[in-house]
Amino acid sequence: MLKNKDESRTPLSEFGEFGLIDHLTKHFEIKHETTVKGIGDDAAIVQEDRQLVVTTDLLVEGVHFDLSYMPLKHLGYKAVVVNLSDVYAMNAEAKQITVSIAVSNRFPVEALEELYAGIKTACDIYKVDLIGGDTTSSMTGLIISVTAIGSVAAEEVVLRSGAQANDLLVVTGDIGAAYMGLQVLEREKEVYKVNPNMQPDLEEYTYLLERQLKPEARKDIRELLKALEVKPTAMIDVSDGLSSEILHLCKQSQVGCNLYEVKLPLDPQFISVCEEFEVDSTTMALNGGEDYELLFTISTSDFDKIKGNPNLTVVGHMTPENEGVHLITRANTKIPIVARGWNAFNKEEDQE
Ligand code: ADP
Ligand code: MG
Repeated sequence: MLKNKDESRTPLSEFGEFGLIDHLTKHFEIKHETTVKGIGDDAAIVQEDRQLVVTTDLLVEGVHFDLSYMPLKHLGYKAVVVNLSDVYAMNAEAKQITVSIAVSNRFPVEALEELYAGIKTACDIYKVDLIGGDTTSSMTGLIISVTAIGSVAAEEVVLRSGAQANDLLVVTGDIGAAYMGLQVLEREKEVYKVNPNMQPDLEEYTYLLERQLKPEARKDIRELLKALEVKPTAMIDVSDGLSSEILHLCKQSQVGCNLYEVKLPLDPQFISVCEEFEVDSTTMALNGGEDYELLFTISTSDFDKIKGNPNLTVVGHMTPENEGVHLITRANTKIPIVARGWNAFNKEEDQE
C-alpha cells in the first residue's frame, strides 16, 4: 500500500494560520497577465475582456478519497484537475484557481506540503495561477475545495444544451479505466488489512492506477478542435460515467441518442482487468466514472475533419427526443440507457 511517509511530523500549530499559508504558497508564481492580484490581500483581482467561467468541486475524505491509497500529492493534483476539466468542458481556457482546505491536527505540516506540491505540479502543467483560498480546522478528516476560473470568447462557449438530432457523439481518449483502477486499489486495501506484510504487485495495472490516482484534464482538445476548425454543438466532461453524461446532454439538448457498444474506446488493460474481475466491460465503461475525458456532439458536416484522429472516437449519434436514449449492442439489440453514474447521496444499488 502507498503510505504517507512518517519521517518528520511538524504540528500545524507551529506555524499559525498566516505563516502556514505563506509557507505552503510561497513557491507559486503568477503566470497570467489577467491575474492582477493573487494571494495576500482580502480578495484576488482578475481582469478579463472575455466571459469568465467559474466552477467549484468539494472533496471530502472518506467520501471522495481514501488516504490509505491516495498519496496527498496525487490528491492535490487531482483536486485541481477535476475542476480544470469542467472549465475545458465549456470550451474555455483555465487561468486561475483558489484552494480551500479544512484539516484536523492529525495532519502534520509535511502532509500539507505534499498536498500543495501536487497542487503546484498541476498549476505548472496546466498553466493556472493559484490566487487565493481559505484555511480552517476540521474535527477529523481533510476537506479540500478548489474553484477554477477560466475565460472564453462569448462565441466560443459550448453548452450542454446545443446538440441537434443527427449530430455525431464523440468521446476523447478511452473510458472506464479510472473506475477499474479504483477496484484494484480497493481489492489491495482489503488484502493489506488481512496481511500488512504483503507487498502488492501492481505492475500490470499501471495505466488503470494512473487513471485513478493521477487523472489528466483534456486541455489539448480545445486546441485540437480549434486547429481542425470544429466547434462542438454541445459538450460535457466525463466525471460521473458515460451513461449519465449522455443523459445530461440529451436532457438539456432535448434530443435522444443511439450509442454503439462496438464503438466504445476501451484500453486493453481495462478489458483484461474486467475479465479478471469477471465484470462486463461495457457496463463498467458506461457506469464507471472519473475518466475526465470530454464528450461532445458535432454536426455530421464536420465528420471529415475529425475522422481518423486517434484522440477522438465517434461512439453514436443523436436522434429526435421521442426516440429515447439507447445502447445498440454488438448483437444489435437496443437497450435503454439509464442513469447509473456515481451519486454522492446514493449507494450504487439504490440508483435508478
Ligand atoms: P481572510 O481572513 O481575509 O479570509 P485569510 O487569512 O484567510 O484572509 O487569507 C489570506 C490570504 O491567503 C488570502 O489572499 C487568501 O486568499 C489566501 N489563502 C488562505 N488560505 C489559503 C489556502 N489554503 N491556499 C491558498 N491561499 C490561501
Ligand atoms: Mg480566510
